[in-house]
Amino acid sequence: MIAVVGSLNMDLVINADRIPRSGETVMGKSFKQIPGGKGANQADAIAKLGCEVHMIGCVGQDAMGRILKDSLKRDGVNIEGVLEKTDASTGVASIIVDPKGNNVITVAPGANYRLTVEDIDNFSPIITTADLLLLQLETTLETVRESLRIAKSAGKMTILNPAPAAKLDKEILMNTDVLTPNETELELLSEYPTDTLEGIEIAGKKMVDKGVKEVVVTLGHKGCMYINREETKHYPAYKVRAIDTTAAGDSFNAALAASLSKDQTMDAAIAFAMKVGAMTVTKEGAQTSLPLLREVDQFEDW
Ligand code: ADP
Repeated sequence: MIAVVGSLNMDLVINADRIPRSGETVMGKSFKQIPGGKGANQADAIAKLGCEVHMIGCVGQDAMGRILKDSLKRDGVNIEGVLEKTDASTGVASIIVDPKGNNVITVAPGANYRLTVEDIDNFSPIITTADLLLLQLETTLETVRESLRIAKSAGKMTILNPAPAAKLDKEILMNTDVLTPNETELELLSEYPTDTLEGIEIAGKKMVDKGVKEVVVTLGHKGCMYINREETKHYPAYKVRAIDTTAAGDSFNAALAASLSKDQTMDAAIAFAMKVGAMTVTKEGAQTSLPLLREVDQFEDW
């Protein structure tokens, strides 16, 4: 079983002819409410891949919170660890997309930032009975630190997807087994330029020096790079026609966690995660584009 500690957001998406300037109102063409939030996306993807998963997080006591919980439950995620807070609204992301796919996004984290260290302590039985803990950075760093501490004290494997990027302290890094940044996040964390493969390798090694055991850097259509103390390996991406890259990182992390929780080798886990990431970019949306295990089994690249 995998425990995910993270965010649940409702994505409010308006498609418009163009993105408005400051002070301007533009009439939109269509509107969609899509369940999102990195934590919920990753938990949802894990369930769709046929793996048992518990989500720990917070929504508000409102209609959007109920929709998010129902949608995770329907997809097979255990939501006993999702609290309804009375003093905040459910997290939302307001997204405007133009016809070229350019977007502007504002996130109001709301209830996601109301998850407390005490909540994590109360849910520690979920973390200590899991095979693996998966986290992102859309809840407070205190909750990330505490979750990692509980998991490592119980000898569990931990994966931290450091998104959105934030500076991480020694305790967080020392309790992280696998760190999964993209190039931009790695640059911020390592304070080293990541615009070349050589730069990425050096930046990844810096993170190993800072305390993480292994680093898997996701590189979009360029695949990913694995780095530990002894070796570095570049994996080229599957060839697909990319339509919408939303949630590629989320599905990659979910698939990596699903594989590693079943004691697969890192090589096999990365191959599976790249396949799932590639399939996600061939469909639109976040939770709507996450593939089912049987679809992954049928997938062949071009
Ligand atoms: P993030 O969304 O966190 O920036 P990436 O865009 O790097 O994550 O995507 C995660 C993974 O998904 C990549 O490592 C790759 O394996 C796969 N992927 C993403 N974009 C593509 C693409 N255009 N073609 C093939 N695979 C892709």
